[in-house]
Amino acid sequence: MRRRRQCTTWSCFAVGVQCQRLAKHDGPHEASPTPTYDRHWSWTDEDPNGITVLPGTVWFHRPERARLKKIARLLAPWALLHGPIALLLWLYVSPATAVVFVALELVTSVRRPRFVDLGRFTAGVWPVTPAAPPLIFGIAWATHGEGRNAKIAGLEVVLGPVVVGAFSLVPRSEWPAYKRSQAAFKALQKESRS
Ligand SMILES: [Zn+2]
Repeated sequence: MRRRRQCTTWSCFAVGVQCQRLAKHDGPHEASPTPTYDRHWSWTDEDPNGITVLPGTVWFHRPERARLKKIARLLAPWALLHGPIALLLWLYVSPATAVVFVALELVTSVRRPRFVDLGRFTAGVWPVTPAAPPLIFGIAWATHGEGRNAKIAGLEVVLGPVVVGAFSLVPRSEWPAYKRSQAAFKALQKESRS
């Protein structure tokens, strides 16, 4: 991502405010006096004293801080709920138990499938389908296709509301053909886009 910079221009108005738009913007400089003020002042380089008051907040949010805020907002409820338990485990049982607890809680709080592909293999976490029978813990083979003669592809472990699994996407014998078809599909997509 490109670094966002704030316009460095200050107003010559009685109240000094720095322009809150991005650097090298087009049009007049604009700034609200506070991050929540519902109006902003607008002025141009040609007439720095001609200030117009317009509706709407114009405030530059430093990107790092905005991202940190977002992460904090997501993590705060989780930390409030699980932090004390993890701390007690760390103090009274063992640090390793606390780490395992946090890891398990993180994994089981997954609401969307997350996968990492490594060539022919993939590993990931995904929520249990609502139709599946409730399980606290379970281990199952992942197979290519259905039936008793299906080839084993990998392992799936059910941990309450999620499944953690690692398996191959296709059997080894079909891998070259699979790769070829993927490449063909990508080429087709590129063609239709251009
Ligand atoms: Zn500006």
